[in-house]
Amino acid sequence: MSDPALDLLRRVFGHPGFRGEQRQIVEHVTGGGDALVLMPTGGGKSLCYQLPALLREGCALVVSPLIALMQDQVEALRQLGVRAAYLNSTLDAEESARIERELLSGELDLLYVAPERLLTQRFLSLLDRARLALFAIDEAHCVSQWGHDFRPEYRQLTVLHERWPDIPRIALTATADAPTRREIAERLNLEDARQFVSSFDRPNLRYRIVHKDGGGVRQLLDFLDGHRGESGIVYAFSRKRVETVAEQLQAAGLNALPYHAGMDASLRAQNQRRFLQQDGIVMVATIAFGMGIDKPDVRFVAHVDLPKSIEGYYQETGRAGRDGEAAEAWLSYGLGDVVNLRQLIQQGEAGEERKRLELRKLDALLGYCESTQCRRQALLGWFGEAHGGACGNCDNCLDPPRSWDGTQAARKGLSCVYRTGQRFGAGHVIDVLRGVATDKVKQWGHERLSTWSIGSDLDERQWRGVFRQLVAGGLLEADVEHHGALRLTTLSGPVLRGEVELRFRHEPEKPARGRRTRGGSAGTAMVVDLDPESQVRFDALREWRSSTAREQNVPAYVIFHDSTLRAIAQAAPEDLDELSRVPGIGASKLDRYGEAVLQQLFDAA
Ligand code: ADP
Ligand code: ZN
Repeated sequence: MSDPALDLLRRVFGHPGFRGEQRQIVEHVTGGGDALVLMPTGGGKSLCYQLPALLREGCALVVSPLIALMQDQVEALRQLGVRAAYLNSTLDAEESARIERELLSGELDLLYVAPERLLTQRFLSLLDRARLALFAIDEAHCVSQWGHDFRPEYRQLTVLHERWPDIPRIALTATADAPTRREIAERLNLEDARQFVSSFDRPNLRYRIVHKDGGGVRQLLDFLDGHRGESGIVYAFSRKRVETVAEQLQAAGLNALPYHAGMDASLRAQNQRRFLQQDGIVMVATIAFGMGIDKPDVRFVAHVDLPKSIEGYYQETGRAGRDGEAAEAWLSYGLGDVVNLRQLIQQGEAGEERKRLELRKLDALLGYCESTQCRRQALLGWFGEAHGGACGNCDNCLDPPRSWDGTQAARKGLSCVYRTGQRFGAGHVIDVLRGVATDKVKQWGHERLSTWSIGSDLDERQWRGVFRQLVAGGLLEADVEHHGALRLTTLSGPVLRGEVELRFRHEPEKPARGRRTRGGSAGTAMVVDLDPESQVRFDALREWRSSTAREQNVPAYVIFHDSTLRAIAQAAPEDLDELSRVPGIGASKLDRYGEAVLQQLFDAA
């Protein structure tokens, strides 16, 4: 029986089969149905509209918010021999006119366009004269004003449905939380569309959280040690912090670049370009960096400061490992982060209700950080998805945290906060507990308090851990108006009265060293180390790919993904026929690069 979708998948894209719900989505949209597709990053969303675009008559319009993203997607499609183009502000009038002509004369299968261009009267009437296959609305969460990617023009995309009610629409996003999903369906008039919700698990990501020692940069460097020569992103809290962390990494000999909204725009764009095109760059950035960073081989995302919410953490870490190969999500945080973020929220412009919501989100993230549960289970649980736990690929599963009975320590800590008047930060309270007679202690006469020196059984680091966990658990709050002064909460009473028992995580003796984390027991998506001969072939292929990419001025992964090169290196094909059977090699790539690849393999033997 003929199966045109599968045929195309194999012939054009070189994939042996569909992933997850791709087949159902493709069939639904090809048959003319509307769809809302919720799939994690790297899940394979693009094919869900690219295949229907090829299967249906006419040209598919793809709405995409970011210029860089469009260009890469179009470049990748052209490499596959697909008739794709984009229209955005980087083209001059002549090029735009040419593409418009191609659209009208039916020479295009996919046209990527920015929302502001699509919505112009001129363009809408142009579309009236074209034959349309479907509308794809990528990064559909841009319609939601609660996310930081809000794009007001997305709200007006309902015009597509009003003007062309018979053309199917497919909206896609990697946003996992239910309120945003509902908002997308409502705002884009997609309530009747069929919803395809995939699992949001990212089995190839390894989650790891450490407690900050000082500024956290030392620990970051240890972590980066395990990722030499690999591309990755380091997220930091503020522009200033981005600058200093980038400088420190550069000083340590790493190929690190800064990125934040306060930089000169052309330098910023240049840094982004370099990150996309070159291998092994560490981008140090605020969260301004990331949406639409479609680089599949980001091997790690490190948060050197606490993100704002679990949603943000999930989305940012999700930029690692789009290619399905092993990648790490690392985070370091300390009490100072909590104070900084609370301050940022409370002093922000938002209304009271919004601030309360943001503070609750921060608390949920803190709970996640301190939890001893499987990270994957906790993370997916937050998005309403059940997971059995014991994933074998997070710090809590790999290295189950030891805990200790912290009931006494917590009581001492809380009463010392109370005795010192709930007006000092953790540093001073810890000095009092440990009997360290600083000037400040003497100035306030705190060596006369009943809690003076009652905590000398723990060292400073252990006390910091206690206070961090008390704040994370809501048993203390940090008053941001008063420089992080700790205050009791309604939950403190039962602890002080000895009515509840508390268990705390052990603070690691030394900051955990970043280890090489390939392999592992997580099964499916882990990278297998290559045998020595395959490694030689792989290295030769990578080198060839780099120079080919440079010649064409495209990112290396547009030519072939790492996983494809690895598969070629392992299969060691001797002729074009054998090469064509390696997953990831479609007809067009075989045509273009087949001989060159075989030559490389021959030379490397
Ligand atoms: P998303 O947009 O959901 O983040 P992409 O569409 O960019 O994901 O796909 C992620 C990666 O998965 C790409 O490298 C793509 O080639 C690969 N991929 C997608 N579908 C399949 C499939 N059916 N078989 C093999 N690889 C696939
Ligand atoms: Zn786990």
